[in-house]
Amino acid sequence: MKTLTRNAYAKVNLALDVLRRREDGYHDVCMIMQNLSLYDTLTFTVEEADTLTITLACDKAFVPCDARNLIYKAIALMGETYHLTGHVHVELVKRIPVEAGMAGGSTDCAAAFHAMRELYGLDVSDQELMKLGVKLGADVPYCIMAKTALSEGIGEVLTEVAPLPDCFVVVAKPTISVSTKMVYENLHANELEKHPDIDGMVMALEEQSLQGITERMENVLETVTEVRYPVIAEIKACMKECGAMNSLMSGSGPTVFGIFTEKEKAEKAADAIRSRKLAKQVFVTQPYNV
Ligand code: ATP
Repeated sequence: MKTLTRNAYAKVNLALDVLRRREDGYHDVCMIMQNLSLYDTLTFTVEEADTLTITLACDKAFVPCDARNLIYKAIALMGETYHLTGHVHVELVKRIPVEAGMAGGSTDCAAAFHAMRELYGLDVSDQELMKLGVKLGADVPYCIMAKTALSEGIGEVLTEVAPLPDCFVVVAKPTISVSTKMVYENLHANELEKHPDIDGMVMALEEQSLQGITERMENVLETVTEVRYPVIAEIKACMKECGAMNSLMSGSGPTVFGIFTEKEKAEKAADAIRSRKLAKQVFVTQPYNV
């Protein structure tokens, strides 16, 4: 029997632009992705068997533990592609908010690809895993790469950029559910009046200028989500009131994150969000840069 434990890190979008809707229904995007030190933990065990079987257990009852789970899908796809056999069992400790715009499912999926490669000793590059991963979700290639990146195409064209410098990041997930599909369906990509300055953000990252980075934080999906769910604007305002350099919705939401230079201010913001009952899931975290 072999055992392996991996952490799977959450991401936020420091900037998110949507360029156009494609004929296949996907959207061409241009985003800056950054990992945070907020992670799920996955423990894999593999026992010998004649065929491939997969079981999954999670500490949170609302996470599906069957073939709908992206961990399950990643293991099945690796099994099919590389003709693997064995009984694979995964224990998932879920800390990343679900349906939150933090790529929680995609990062677990990426961890499963990496773990399977290691457990079975496969000579497969990250590039190959990324090609397989995009079949399961647009954010999966980024999660396999797991470095600060400019993400283009539907999310599969990735260029490493300089990482977000040291700071404190408050993450708050309000208790509303936002469907990514609804957000994209209601976005009028051709009519957007403002687009984030992604080139400027890349330069600011290169210069390690937290000021330059934070003043360019923008997400065009807020035009859909913030209007429908006022709590998002309330959390952003609360973070700024408590000293955030800036705050933004991540992905299609509803999670909001704020950037702070001082831990005390970040903790004060987290307390204020909790006491005003704007969100239940609130974390003070930091960039995760490998
Ligand atoms: P993204 O930022 O990529 O849009 P998200 O935060 O919107 O992701 P997830 O947390 O990945 O969304 O979950 C979306 C759905 O995927 C959930 O409703 C859940 O049922 C399903 N799911 C599949 N695998 C997982 C997983 N490993 N962890 C959490 N949810 C999962």
